[in-house]
Amino acid sequence: MQYDYLIVGAGLYGAVFAQQAMAAGKSCLVVDKRPHLAGNIYTEQIEGINVHRYGAHIFHTNNKAVWDYVNGYAVFNRYTNSPVANYHGEIYNLPFNMNTFNKMWGVTTPADAQAEIERQRAAHFTAQPQNLEEQAINLVGTDIYEKLIKSYTEKQWGRPCTELPSFIIKRLPVRFTYDNNYFNALYQGIPCGGYTKLVEGMLAGADIRLNTNYLQEKPALDALAGRVIYTGPVDAYFDYRLGALQYRSVRFETETLDVENYQGNAVVNYTDHETPYTRIIEHKHFEFGTQPKTIISREYSAEWKPGDEPYYPVNDDANNALYAQYKALADAEPHVVFGGRLGEYRYYDMDKVIETAMATAAVELEKINQYTV
Ligand code: UDP
Repeated sequence: MQYDYLIVGAGLYGAVFAQQAMAAGKSCLVVDKRPHLAGNIYTEQIEGINVHRYGAHIFHTNNKAVWDYVNGYAVFNRYTNSPVANYHGEIYNLPFNMNTFNKMWGVTTPADAQAEIERQRAAHFTAQPQNLEEQAINLVGTDIYEKLIKSYTEKQWGRPCTELPSFIIKRLPVRFTYDNNYFNALYQGIPCGGYTKLVEGMLAGADIRLNTNYLQEKPALDALAGRVIYTGPVDAYFDYRLGALQYRSVRFETETLDVENYQGNAVVNYTDHETPYTRIIEHKHFEFGTQPKTIISREYSAEWKPGDEPYYPVNDDANNALYAQYKALADAEPHVVFGGRLGEYRYYDMDKVIETAMATAAVELEKINQYTV
């Protein structure tokens, strides 16, 4: 065996695992089928702007250890995500806060906003919300649900809100203060110079093979290392033998525009039903860019099919049940650890990816040391 670990996927999970393993003196070979590092957090510089090629990534965490860890690889700027929603040309602040309530109903005090939400949800209140629609109406009432949640969510997930799990909407804060910060996290920012640099720093010292499709070269690659960390789709690993898990994919229509400032914000969500895309990202605003041109990406959400990039696991009951069966196969797979959004079929944020990669690495390294001592 040439390496202690073969790490399949050079995204955030694989990079953190490799970094932890190398810090413990282990050797790593990292393979990725794409021609670049960093998985879906890959950023590419065009016109001096770091373009988030696979969708916008805004780092946020409450975990000081995770924050200190990423700051060891990049300087983070002070970017605070404050997306706005465009509903038929009406602009609302997100997440749902006093600015949103004032624009929606003209209310100016938290008490009046709460009273209005209470009035709207009273007819629909469900003590134990079973789906996203019930959860959303409980949280913010029917007006906000209809204008800012329903169509956006249905475009993003391709399913009615009544068939989606309620936890998705609980990702968004509801605040009775005039605070447009999308996240409640203590720490937030974008790595200056882009995410690719961050991952390159974590992977320094690892052997790397890009353009390498593990599943197509499995026997030869497996022969190189004692243990495998697999961060690709769990169902693909098992050749979809129990059926395919569902994912949502995203198509990005990216354009360079000869204007300095196209939309005045990094993120504008289109929450109406008619606009075919879910949001427009204007990448320069993540780093307060002053370049003469700008680059925007329109995001079109679609059901994943073979050949597409999987982005979001669809964690509804049917898919979770199928995943549980794959998880049993994964647990029984000798020498392989499954990790990350695709390997564990979880809607992870980046900080959670780092937490789980570190926790898994700690357990794994303990185990491997026991064998080798
Ligand atoms: N959401 C919404 N309206 C918005 C933004 C978000 O209803 O304008 C809901 C929607 O259900 C979405 C969820 O919040 O699926 C999570 O959105 P987030 O922006 O966190 O998703 P991500 O950035 O991970 O794509």
